[in-house]
Amino acid sequence: DLAARMAERAADVVKYLMKQGQMVRVNDVLDQDTAELIVSDFGHVVKRVSESDVETGFIAEDDPEDTKKPRPPVVTVMGHVDHGKTSLLDALRATDVVAGEAGGITQHIGAYQVNLKSGEKITFLDTPGHAAFSAMRARGAQATDIVILVVAADDGVMPQTVEAIKHAKASGAPIIVAVNKMDKPDANPNKVLQDLLQHEIVVEQMSGDVQAIEVSALKKTGLDNLTEAITLQAELLELKANPDRPGDGVVVESQVEQGRGSVATVLVKRGTLKRGDIVVAGAQWGRVRALIDERGQQLKEIGPSQPAEILGLDGAPEPGELFAVVENEARAREIADYRQRQKRQAATGSGGGASLEQMMARLQQSEQQEIHVVIKADVQGSAEAIAQSLEKLGNEEVHARAIHAAPGGVNESDVMLAKASKAPVIAFNVRANKQARELAEAEGVEIRYYSIIYNVLDDIKAALEGMLSPEQ
Ligand code: GDP
Repeated sequence: DLAARMAERAADVVKYLMKQGQMVRVNDVLDQDTAELIVSDFGHVVKRVSESDVETGFIAEDDPEDTKKPRPPVVTVMGHVDHGKTSLLDALRATDVVAGEAGGITQHIGAYQVNLKSGEKITFLDTPGHAAFSAMRARGAQATDIVILVVAADDGVMPQTVEAIKHAKASGAPIIVAVNKMDKPDANPNKVLQDLLQHEIVVEQMSGDVQAIEVSALKKTGLDNLTEAITLQAELLELKANPDRPGDGVVVESQVEQGRGSVATVLVKRGTLKRGDIVVAGAQWGRVRALIDERGQQLKEIGPSQPAEILGLDGAPEPGELFAVVENEARAREIADYRQRQKRQAATGSGGGASLEQMMARLQQSEQQEIHVVIKADVQGSAEAIAQSLEKLGNEEVHARAIHAAPGGVNESDVMLAKASKAPVIAFNVRANKQARELAEAEGVEIRYYSIIYNVLDDIKAALEGMLSPEQ
């Protein structure tokens, strides 16, 4: 394609790259820098096809002149299994003030909006598990504005609570704690708040800045306080978007359904998505035949922070992939085709980006000053020991940081957390389960196995020095 656009022979471009030591085939996708270099070396003027960058997601930056309007917050609920995530989401859904009128049975589409008495709205992402949350982030889609951390008052902070805290912190989204099951006789909210302190969550009751709200999803108490806490946090975040532009955003869920074809739930981040628009979503494209909300109602258009199912794509994009309205079918085809090739290439080639080596490369290009790692070990003691020793390596310029260190085998959640933070997983005296291994392979996350702490430190030190060195 590049050769054609320059009116040169493809073989010449391939030959040129080979001389530079880059072995490429005619249909391989080049990164933007290489492409620009080739174009200027062949004596042509570099001109981007459009402002939108096909490679990194084709979403054009907002013009600062654009008028931005407030948008509802997008909230994800996380927490330990059985602490009441599903119950809380159901209870919150039931507080919707217009739900009654519309009636109808709700279907699960992965996201829904609640209309509050105050007239404000909150969008909830209803995707199970932390892995989904990180999968989205890993693909560059920061969909969540606020994380609700559900902790059962009769059970306290548990392993997945800690995991959720890591995911939330890594994403930078503020946390609101929902202390659930307050109706239980053995509820002990103070213990929950104490437990949280150990994980650097200091709630307002303890002079911190994290809101903690006592609720019962079962008895439906405290829900107004919780939604108020969310709107208060949202105000602080000053969430705004420009609705008057072509829509773009993120894919929340998708599948191919019998009789309906490909069905994708999307969440608009900016602009307005209308029925009839031509969209590209990940490596798929299509004309939006229908927009449907979780009550099965047909919509004409959706704006910022609004979710809906869309029908009409030619396949199922992956959760976390970006979508955007494009000007015409030809453009949509071009981008989708490009991405499909890029995906195939990533599947066979290196792709990903979460190995120690790739991290070193990024450090050398000083895109990054910190090496992140996820540590899993056989016992808590070694996980902590490794994390602490790691953080002593390096200097002010470059250092290592364990974004997660916990006992247990490597699971899918670890891999997604690693992927999202472009970090390798250090497995110390533990193995990865099958799903984790497969996911790591698919996502290009490196899992490094060790049984001697010294070796871990040695490798990380080498990686840090690698970027410290050569030309100083
Ligand atoms: P999840 O695994 O976090 O989604 O938890 P669920 O919402 O499935 O809830 C797990 C169990 O806790 C279910 O049996 C719920 O009925 C129960 N549960 C959830 N919230 C409450 C609550 O506020 N009070 C009491 N007593 N039980 C609750």
